[in-house]
Amino acid sequence: MQDVQEVLNNHFIMERLADLHTHTTASDGCLTPTEVVEAAKRAELAAVAITDHDTVGGIDEALAAGRKFDIEVIPGVEISTIYQDRVEVHILGYFIDHTSPTLIERLDVLKNARYDRAMQMVEKLNAAGVMIDFGRVQELAGGGAIGRPHVARAIVEAGAARSMDSAFGKFLKEGGAGYVPRYKISPMEAMEAISEAGGVSCCAHVAKLKRDELLVELINRGLRAIEASHPDHSRAGRKFYKRFAKSRGLIATGGSDAHGFAHNMRPGVGDVTVDYDVVRQLRQASRFGDSSRIKCLEE
Ligand SMILES: [Zn+2]
Ligand SMILES: [Zn+2]
Repeated sequence: MQDVQEVLNNHFIMERLADLHTHTTASDGCLTPTEVVEAAKRAELAAVAITDHDTVGGIDEALAAGRKFDIEVIPGVEISTIYQDRVEVHILGYFIDHTSPTLIERLDVLKNARYDRAMQMVEKLNAAGVMIDFGRVQELAGGGAIGRPHVARAIVEAGAARSMDSAFGKFLKEGGAGYVPRYKISPMEAMEAISEAGGVSCCAHVAKLKRDELLVELINRGLRAIEASHPDHSRAGRKFYKRFAKSRGLIATGGSDAHGFAHNMRPGVGDVTVDYDVVRQLRQASRFGDSSRIKCLEE
């Protein structure tokens, strides 16, 4: 007869978990790709997906760290899109070929637009009397995808706001003195880019969308997964979207959306997880797992 400890150990080993939504310094996260992978290892995860905003710049470093720390790293991305000029939709891509020239080209367009936007924000803030320097904003972005958090940090440094949250609230939210709308692609264009890179498209934090008809349209256009578990989803919301996924034959994913900010009680790597089986399903649905899909994509 197995003793109790052995049964417990086996149970523990069987419970393999994955965090499928994390950000690094390649976009607006505070941890380097290596640090995110280390954090995932500390959280005893079996796998972690790197899903930076509009960039695959952190993937190579994360993959190397994955090999070093013996943890599976799933190459991913989170593309910001806009639906019908109104609704912001984030499309996650999993098991992408992050070296795909088509994907890189599309992300470069977004990156250049981010750069232009940050520059315009600085100009508007300067005109409003908030004297921050674009060079400093670039420095704060550390060569990664430049965005509002870096402008917010520069505002705090300049003494015009006490915290990043207050910088956002005072200047950077829609209608604020430094607000500039973003250039975005449509969810369908993002799904196309992910598909061309062999990946699986997933609609991020679906409960925040509050538009199930939009979800249905995305599904009709090839969406394969939805993010049912997210820190901003209520328990009831997670349950609802897990059931929704099941009824539509979609993969229900989940992750912490960790940015590594050490304030405002933001989630850390491993705070929201899914069973490792979800990783298997995603791999199977990607070009790496499903040979019939390659054919379908080529036709
Ligand atoms: Zn998002
Ligand atoms: Zn995110």
